[in-house]
Amino acid sequence: MRINERPAGLPPTTHPLLDLPEQGEGGCAAIEAFAARYYDELTASAGPRSFGYVVGGTTPAAVAGDWLTAAFDQDNGEGMTAHLETEAMHMLRQLFRLPDDHTGVFVSGDTMANVVGLATGREWLGQQSGVHVAQDGVAALGPVRILSGRPHSSIYKAATMLGLGRSAVVEVPYLPQTEAIDPDVLERLLQEHTDKPCIVVGNAGTVNATSFDDLETLVRLREKHNFWLHVDSAFGLFAACSPIYSALVEGLGAADSIAVDAHKWLNVPYDCGVVFIRHPDLQRDVFVNANAPYLRNASDVIDYMNRTPEAS
Ligand SMILES: *Cc1c(COP(=O)(O)O)cnc(C)c1O
Repeated sequence: MRINERPAGLPPTTHPLLDLPEQGEGGCAAIEAFAARYYDELTASAGPRSFGYVVGGTTPAAVAGDWLTAAFDQDNGEGMTAHLETEAMHMLRQLFRLPDDHTGVFVSGDTMANVVGLATGREWLGQQSGVHVAQDGVAALGPVRILSGRPHSSIYKAATMLGLGRSAVVEVPYLPQTEAIDPDVLERLLQEHTDKPCIVVGNAGTVNATSFDDLETLVRLREKHNFWLHVDSAFGLFAACSPIYSALVEGLGAADSIAVDAHKWLNVPYDCGVVFIRHPDLQRDVFVNANAPYLRNASDVIDYMNRTPEAS
């Protein structure tokens, strides 16, 4: 069945669970068994007729890249793989028209990109008040407020993972008929509530209404009220590639951290997200794989394992 003949979506099905075989059956038999059992239930989610959520497909070139990645199975600490990542980030900055001071790294998706951005923001909040969160823990920092118009559910997940708690997230009212944050209300909240250090999560493309916050205004507010500005632009950053829509992400380059998904509208296979950050030293402070003398570090390549939750 070709991709255009498959249904774009199917309801979930259940099968009895297969037991682990006593003996390995070999690659070909395993693939045949998989095909017999599941082939008809694959959907055309990678194809042009699938509009579920904001997911992308995979282009032939992207599939080839994924095959090469799997076939060569390189250790990320060796050889030119760090250079490849640096080069890919250089091109992505050009694609999205981001300034060069944003260092980018690959993560498994936009959820992890949000986690890395907010973790680095949490470290920055600590630095502002003389607390070393990476060393002494989030309790040393105390409660934090995360202000956002219509945050994606993954912002709440990031808040729990980072020890900030879901109740740290405060939803700010929207402008009429949109899910875009009302900047006047945001400013009032920033003025009235100075008891806790603050992260503002801007949204470039909300999942219900596709609203974009006015990022230039958020950047201006940051000059008056000291906060970390993270922007979740999982699928909205691709507006930067369009002459018609690029105004929607004007100002984005000045954000402190930016999350974007490559496995959405960049149309590469799962799992692939990117986080861009303008504070690489703080990011490294959070994610450094310390106390491992066996991990040497070649001085002139970027040590990606020290910048994300993943090591391998
Ligand atoms: C998809 C999406 C996420 C989560 O991304 P994953 O890659 O599924 O982790 C976060 N924010 C927005 C706005 C999204 O569209």
